[in-house]
Amino acid sequence: MPMHVEICEDDCINCGLCAERAPSNVEEVPDAELPRIVRQPLGTEEEEACLEAAEYCPLGGFHADQRQEGGSVREDVPAGDNGTRARAMPP
Ligand code: SF4
Repeated sequence: MPMHVEICEDDCINCGLCAERAPSNVEEVPDAELPRIVRQPLGTEEEEACLEAAEYCPLGGFHADQRQEGGSVREDVPAGDNGTRARAMPP
């Protein structure tokens, strides 16, 4: 069940925390308004780093979802600091 990560530009303040938490998957881009997803997580270690990035994102702009067979999405990311839940991405 691969994980899919995504950054929602409407909910990102470009604080750099996700790139710090998941450096294999996200990088800061100088002079850009958003960090960039370098690649989708590969393996447990990267998935855990991305879940941590989603958990600590201050505005819930970093989304990490487990895609289940058949294309449905399970929300399993805890609330961010502002109490919002990460939203499921469309299949
Ligand atoms: S942690 Fe959240 S707000 Fe900060 S750069 Fe990443 S997506 Fe944007």
